[in-house]
Amino acid sequence: MTPPGCDAADAADAADEWQVRPVAGADARKPYRCPGCDQEILPGIPHVVAWPDGDPTERRHWHRVCWEARNRRSARWRRSGRH
Ligand SMILES: [Zn+2]
Repeated sequence: MTPPGCDAADAADAADEWQVRPVAGADARKPYRCPGCDQEILPGIPHVVAWPDGDPTERRHWHRVCWEARNRRSARWRRSGRH
């Protein structure tokens, strides 16, 4: 067990290892904000939920296309405020 903190977050970020799970439309019962495009994921829309490996508190819901596009512009999806 690693306590939550900068070290664990940095390790997950540096490794760029993410847990990704599909969310079926039937399981999407409320809107989520997609960090990829900053638009809502409406209820009933199949999408994905992803979080840094070992840090499930950082779960984010993404449109599938946005998640896949993230790989091509990953620099945009770094934790802000870190140098
Ligand atoms: Zn999106």
